[in-house]
Amino acid sequence: MAHEIRDSDSRRLRIDFHVHLGLYTYQKPWVTEWIKQSHPDPAGYEAYINRYSDPGEFEELLTAEGVDYACILAELSHSTTGVCTNEQVQAFCQGRKRLIPFCDINPHLFTDLGSELRHKVEVEGFRGVKLYPTYQHYYLNDRRIYPLYQAAQDLKIPVLIHTGSSVFKGSRIKYGDPLHLDDVANDFPSLNLVMAHSGRGLWYDRAFFLSKLHANLYMEVSGLPPSKLMTYFPELARNTDKVIFGSDWPGASEIKRNMEAISALPLPAEGVEKILGGNAAKLLNL
Ligand SMILES: [Zn+2]
Repeated sequence: MAHEIRDSDSRRLRIDFHVHLGLYTYQKPWVTEWIKQSHPDPAGYEAYINRYSDPGEFEELLTAEGVDYACILAELSHSTTGVCTNEQVQAFCQGRKRLIPFCDINPHLFTDLGSELRHKVEVEGFRGVKLYPTYQHYYLNDRRIYPLYQAAQDLKIPVLIHTGSSVFKGSRIKYGDPLHLDDVANDFPSLNLVMAHSGRGLWYDRAFFLSKLHANLYMEVSGLPPSKLMTYFPELARNTDKVIFGSDWPGASEIKRNMEAISALPLPAEGVEKILGGNAAKLLNL
């Protein structure tokens, strides 16, 4: 069934900024097990994930969950979580307007990060990049990463970055400190930076403060229970221009329910629209 996307009124768009593929090229067993156990029906998880590894089926799922667009994230974290290649994500999103491909550039695997990103965007059609410092072990303000930031700024694409905690073996949480993005946000003032998980666990206050301070730094709330958002961010209502919805599917599979829970928070209706799609639409040029 065709799904109508309301381009004319971007405030009503529902955008999931944080979606992984169900089937990785290679996934560490502790990741698979964790996702399976957090699924509403662990016994049916394998069938669920096989079904939605077909992009057509996945679009049907998005429709059922009330999502117009989803950012699909590659991941090259060989030693900690697993590998979902850029090619896999490119093929999954090919010819599907609602699926927005984000590449991953692991700084240990590429020599010239800037030209690599330019190629990914200009030739291969990627529309964002996801960084995994916690899983790939580098500091976000490391000058080695600067050519990538420069390219992303020139290309006008957003950079999504894992920040905060992780339960997976081999992670190094220190690399996910949002404070390091203070340097990046200052040095690349036109680059849109999005903090996945908003500094989860250790640094909610930092993520909030920095996103208020820097016009180009956003919070993204995937992996956080919506019912806890006002506890983590008591002044959320003052920052709705800078907050972006994401699910972290398939790690969290109840996308619609989470969006409804955010709608029920004591926030202005206009602010909810921005969180659930308006802010992301601007960053993605939708
Ligand atoms: Zn994720």
